[in-house]
Order: sequence, then C-alpha cells, then structure tokens
Amino acid sequence: MPNQAPTPVLPASPALTGSLAVRLSGLRKHFGEVVAVDGVDLDIQPGEFFSMLGPSGSGKTTVLRMIAGFELPTAGTVELAGQDVSRLAPFERDVNTVFQDYALFPHMSVRQNVEYGLRVKKVPRAERRRRAEEALHTVRLEGFAERKPSQLSGGQRQRVALARALVNRPKVLLLDEPLGALDLKLRQAMQVELKQIQRDVGITFVFVTHDQDEALTMSDRIAVFNNGRIEQVGSPSEVYDCPATEFVAGFVGTSNLLSGRSAETVIGKPGVYSIRPEKIRIDGDLSSPAPDGHTSATGTVTSVVYAGATVRYAVALDAGGQLSVVRQNIGDGFEVTDGRVRLTWRHDHCYRVPSPEGHQS
Ligand code: ADP
Ligand code: MG
Repeated sequence: MPNQAPTPVLPASPALTGSLAVRLSGLRKHFGEVVAVDGVDLDIQPGEFFSMLGPSGSGKTTVLRMIAGFELPTAGTVELAGQDVSRLAPFERDVNTVFQDYALFPHMSVRQNVEYGLRVKKVPRAERRRRAEEALHTVRLEGFAERKPSQLSGGQRQRVALARALVNRPKVLLLDEPLGALDLKLRQAMQVELKQIQRDVGITFVFVTHDQDEALTMSDRIAVFNNGRIEQVGSPSEVYDCPATEFVAGFVGTSNLLSGRSAETVIGKPGVYSIRPEKIRIDGDLSSPAPDGHTSATGTVTSVVYAGATVRYAVALDAGGQLSVVRQNIGDGFEVTDGRVRLTWRHDHCYRVPSPEGHQS
C-alpha cells in the first residue's frame, strides 16, 4: 500500500490515570568509593517534558541508567507507572533510551534501523512496516527509509535514533544529551522540533543535558543536579527567577549575587540576593534618587563586552561586590565615558536566595 498516508502521530500509550510516570525514592549509586548518586527523590508526571540539568559528573546519566535498568541502585527504588521496577531487566521496563552517539546500525537502511526493535519482538512484517512509517513521519523523515545512516546529516541521524525509540511506543523515553553532537544552529532547530514531537506523541520525556539554555527552552520542569543530588526542581521560570541555592543561581544563568556588606549597604538587609543581568538598567545619572519600587547602586564599569545583540557590562559597586548587566544593543547612543554608572532594578526582580540549613548568611 505505497500510497496510504501514514497516521499523523503515534497513538499515545494508554493513560496512566492516577499514577506517576516515574518515581525515584531515596535513590543512591556507589561505584566503589565514588558516590555517583547521593539520595535522589523525584516524581515525574505522565506526559511531562522533564529535564535533568547539571554539570558533567553530577550524576545525571547514572540516574537515567538506573531508570532504564542498565545500572542497579545501591539503595532506593525506581517506580514506573506505579510499579517497582528496581530489580527488573531493561527489556522488562516500558522505557526506551536515545543516546548522544545515535548507535545506529551502519549497514542497515533507515527503515531497518527503525524496525529493528519490533523485529526482535517478533512483530509481524506488515505491522512493523506500518509502525516504522508512522515513526518516520513523526520525526519528519518520510522518504528517507531506504537510505543508509552514512547518507544522512547529523540531525537526520538523530531523528532516526528517535524514531527507532518511538516505534516501540514506550511510556517513558529517556534521552541522554541527544543533541550534544550537533552544531549550535542545528541543535537549536532540533530543540524546537523535539519539543513539538514530544507534544505530538504525548510520551513522557526524561531529558539529560548540561546546557542550561536547552533545559530552559524545552522543559516543563527541570531538576538541577549537583554532586549526585538535586538542588532544585521547578519550572524553567522558577529555577531561573527564584534559584533555591547559590549553586542554582550560578549554574542556570549568569551568577549575579550580592552578599555580605554590599547586600547590607545596597539592599539594606543581610542575605544573599540574585539579580539577573537583563533585569538591571544601566545609566550615567549618578545623582537622581531611584524611582519608586526600585533599588539603585552606583559603581564603576570594569569591562564592556560587545556581543552583537547585547552588550555586557561588569560593574564594580561602590558598596563592594560586582554585578553583570546585559543591555540590549538598541542603538540609542548609550556609551560609558568616564566609567561611572548607576544601576537600577525593581525590588521584585531581586530574589533572596534561601540560606542553606544551619547557615546564617
Ligand atoms: P553526568 O552524566 O552528570 O556527567 P555521571 O552519572 O556520568 O554524571 O557520573 C557521575 C559520577 O559517577 C562521576 O564522578 C563519574 O566519574 C562516576 N561514574 C559514572 N559511571 C561510573 C562507573 N561505571 N564506574 C565508576 N565511576 C562511574
Ligand atoms: Mg552524562
């Protein structure tokens, strides 16, 4: 039936009514002396695009591999759709994984690659073919079925890898830095596409990345990892605008903190405060008082970095401490002459970072 149009989207897995897609409880993993995962508790909702964000070595891949069943936890449990799968083999779990290096079979065509999992499961040929067509349609690769992986671009190969996972209709799809090998432009295009595909198929995505922009643009929620633990779970704006810890404030976005004496002088209260660089206005008016609802501080520009769309200023405050300011390159003739500037920001754009338990800041 060569002319039959494939179904526009893959049918979603049966509804997981009332249960979570993934629940991790007290999850730990030690490799000898190395504590890779140090007590992770996490609930992921069905249909969520959930990202695990953190620096290299923070334990993201190890958590993903325990969800997939490639590693057994040292302690704690993994539940999928309400079932404890901690001790089940990978093939007994309703999940699939997409890796960064695609791991396509080079000697097989795109179609054979996509059908492979179904062939192993002894799905009849006609159904195999139909589901492979659907999956290729979902990742917008109709017409590429007969090509070999070597005849595709990096982005297309990554989409084949995605189709190969989607064709199994897993309840949860695990993706470990799947866009890491692509150049920036292609990666940004794939971010938008991947998010759209996730919306189309309605499968829960658990997406690992060390790239904060990627996590912010794609996710419904983000868990920020540090040293085998989660520092914060929240929506992109919660994590960006209201960082729960100094680590999150520094890892997600530019670290722009006021603390100690400069916080007391500028804000009028002790504590650690986060102000995002784009929320700060910079001008040369040193004498006027701050407008209502605003805080202001004077200082000296120590560096100016021209980045095309924006200009970034580093400002040493007279009260001590340093703030980074991003100004849109709007072309209004603003220039710093003698280096003396005033910074202004709205009270509600200055977020007090909660102090760690047991610490007075
Ligand atoms: P991420 O994916 O966030 O970069 P990983 O989960 O890969 O981090 O690694 C977390 C920590 O565990 C690192 O210190 C890493 O070196 C260590 N680790 C990961 N896998 C193994 C392993 N198989 N044997 C020993 N140490 C490992
Ligand atoms: Mg990793």
